[in-house]
Amino acid sequence: MHITVIGTGYVGLVTGACFSKMGHKVYCVDIDEGKINGLKKGVLPIFEPHLGTMVINAQEKGDLIFTTNIKEALDDSNIIFIAVGTPMSKDGSANLDYIFSAATDIANNISKDSLVVIKSTVPIGTGFKVRDHIESILEDMGSSIKIDIASNPEFLKEGRAIEDCLHPDRVVIGAEREEVFDILKDLYYSFVLNHDRFVLMDVKSSEMTKYVANAMLATKISFMNEIANICEVTGANVQQVRLGIGSDRRIGYDFIYAGCGYGGSCFPKDVQALINTSKSHGYYPRILSDVEEVNNNQKMVLVNKVVDRFGDDLEGITLSIWGLSFKPDTDDVREATSIVVISELIKKGAKIKAYDPQASEEFKKAIGDEYLSSIELVENRYDALDNSDGLILITEWKEFRYPDLDLLEEKLNQKVIFDGRNIYDKKIEKQGFELFQIGC
Ligand code: NAD
Repeated sequence: MHITVIGTGYVGLVTGACFSKMGHKVYCVDIDEGKINGLKKGVLPIFEPHLGTMVINAQEKGDLIFTTNIKEALDDSNIIFIAVGTPMSKDGSANLDYIFSAATDIANNISKDSLVVIKSTVPIGTGFKVRDHIESILEDMGSSIKIDIASNPEFLKEGRAIEDCLHPDRVVIGAEREEVFDILKDLYYSFVLNHDRFVLMDVKSSEMTKYVANAMLATKISFMNEIANICEVTGANVQQVRLGIGSDRRIGYDFIYAGCGYGGSCFPKDVQALINTSKSHGYYPRILSDVEEVNNNQKMVLVNKVVDRFGDDLEGITLSIWGLSFKPDTDDVREATSIVVISELIKKGAKIKAYDPQASEEFKKAIGDEYLSSIELVENRYDALDNSDGLILITEWKEFRYPDLDLLEEKLNQKVIFDGRNIYDKKIEKQGFELFQIGC
């Protein structure tokens, strides 16, 4: 098939690369000329394992075309995906400006009846509004072109995006007509060869499904973080409790790790957007509001532990940070815990030395100029420890799992570790390290 994907970010680029890998011809369209020019030269705007090779190979074969010219793309496509960002507005609602701007671009450049599929995460009912928007522009132009709308939310995880996209747990499709389901089932046929993983439903339920999946995962995390905080005050160990409950098949082991809060471009904004949608319909969602509040508090847990150990005035204290991205294997720092922890520590007077395998550049853009002069970003994890009074682990990249404890001892002024992801074994305390973890 010939496909246009509008928006060449984490989702659009990965989706485009995966469709082209399966032999479809894909146009990746973006309004960011710098991004498109870079991609044409094989320079990726994001870090995502395995994506670079796929993009370069598909481009060489002519299966993947990067362009800012939407007309060129639409003229040669039967399916149009919208994968632009839907960031959080000030009031917590999803900002749909990019969605409607893409819809306007479609209306102004389309030359035949088309299927528009919304892959971006959008509030319930947006699909129909997008169709109405395109059709009203077409009508004003006196065009008789017809538009079908479908919802096909994306469930990929950054850091594992290629694997998730090529081998999805499920492909959710929301549509109104059998023909539309058939087209999208054909498109994804080779992604689900092993067994049928299509989940077909109406458009609004499909839009809702994406929010509910993220809200459920965020709820699991906040629930376990709350339990961790109760474990701390009662003397129980959340790691042991986790194993105790995970063994119950109704609960399971996945996604029940305590930590220093979730971040990323999806959970915070999607929980907020669902709260907002719900309130706009007159329903106050109690659980979701608490999920968000627990998470905001949890991002402060490491700061509170540092204050308990070093006092509220951190003037003269240097702290090392391992991990800036919101999770391992990505350079994405959107809503990352590192931003909260580092800015709060600097406000209290601390100096920061930080290392991340991939996210330093993105972090520099996100943290705000007022903090940068108190931060030294280094290129080796052990260089972050020189003359530092303690190590704070925020993101559990694999290279942090087995640190050289002798080197840590040699470099750190004080043998203090704050482990925000519970990756270290308590036995390092036997080597004289003070280890502060979450809920244990
Ligand atoms: P992103 O910010 O990384 O990328 C969006 C891209 O769209 C940018 O390159 C931007 O320049 C481009 N764009 C904006 N308006 C455009 C227009 N009119 N025409 C062409 N390009 C335009 O966003 P993302 O992280 O890829 O997320 C996209 C959507 O997918 C969001 O709704 C998000 O919630 C959802 N989603 C994201 C993830 C994830 O892990 N990042 C996972 C699942 C779903």
